[in-house]
Amino acid sequence: MNRIIDSTDLKRFEALLSKSNRIVLTCHVRPDGDAVGSTLGFAHLLKQFGKNVVVVTPDMPPRSLAFLPGFKDIAVYTCHDPYCERVIEEADLIICCDFNKLSRQDQLGPIVGASSAKKVLIDHHQQPDNFADITFSFPEMSSTCELVFRIIAGLGLYKDMNLDSATCLLTGIITDTRNFSVNCNNDEIYEILGHLLKKGCDKSMIVRESLMSKSYGALKLRAYALLHKLEIFEKHRAAIITINKEELKKFHYERGDCEGLVNEPLEIRGIVYSIFLREDADCVKVSARSVNDFPVSTICEELFGGGGHIQAAGAEFKGTLKECHDLIVEHLRDYDRFLPSRQDKIDFFEIDL
Ligand code: MN
Repeated sequence: MNRIIDSTDLKRFEALLSKSNRIVLTCHVRPDGDAVGSTLGFAHLLKQFGKNVVVVTPDMPPRSLAFLPGFKDIAVYTCHDPYCERVIEEADLIICCDFNKLSRQDQLGPIVGASSAKKVLIDHHQQPDNFADITFSFPEMSSTCELVFRIIAGLGLYKDMNLDSATCLLTGIITDTRNFSVNCNNDEIYEILGHLLKKGCDKSMIVRESLMSKSYGALKLRAYALLHKLEIFEKHRAAIITINKEELKKFHYERGDCEGLVNEPLEIRGIVYSIFLREDADCVKVSARSVNDFPVSTICEELFGGGGHIQAAGAEFKGTLKECHDLIVEHLRDYDRFLPSRQDKIDFFEIDL
């Protein structure tokens, strides 16, 4: 495996770790497999060294991650704020995983920002803010969990990694690469997979639990969305799905139930990007995915002030679902410039239902 992490940064991190006893690991709001996997994965390793370690998330992680070892010990800021505030205040070191700016932590961001603890950022999103004492930022990496693995290996601590730690890290790699289907052309990621399996990870269990376990309502919602709410914009190679609050209620929506739905239209031959709009309590959640390096991050940024990766981005829109939808439709033409020059014919025909 290539040593791509700066050795001076690793040495500084090692020194910080050795003198810190109270360590908080934290991640972004609406934590996903990579956010929870990287914080818990690192926490399990640090506990081996007798450190007092707490994982604090801004809000509740989805139920699909409840199988992760240590899940029930996570301190959720929206559930126990005084406790979370205290551990952050008393920490010597805060390790921030899988986000590039404190605003990605919602209400927790200012508390982490105000803490006098040393801070280390470990992340794979573009253009991180400069709030940490040490920043490990590698946007080309598949996941923060891959980066955490490389840091652990770089510190010479692979031998100390236990099964719990390996399981959490593999979960983040699996969820962020959708079980090795995107961002997975670097051969070293398979080397890392091998090293994690050697620790005894049950990969099929992780895939089933983290990516393939839904409620009945969630499965029906997906079928409904694809059948009745999917719009294809043939000329622009785009697909949009919108879901409103009433529809969510009808299918007993729980957080995480729409996870991955945005990817489904990308399976249509010729579709280059897909946007999913979900009406939330006080805003519209926008998520966008693409193939062929079509920059959906640019759309999220220009239309909504959001951002993300080239092929996976998101935003929040303050307004109605219809306004959000119409704004995108109105601007589809502007993004034709990013479409691949060779265009496959879309297999598209209206089906009357
Ligand atoms: Mn990630």
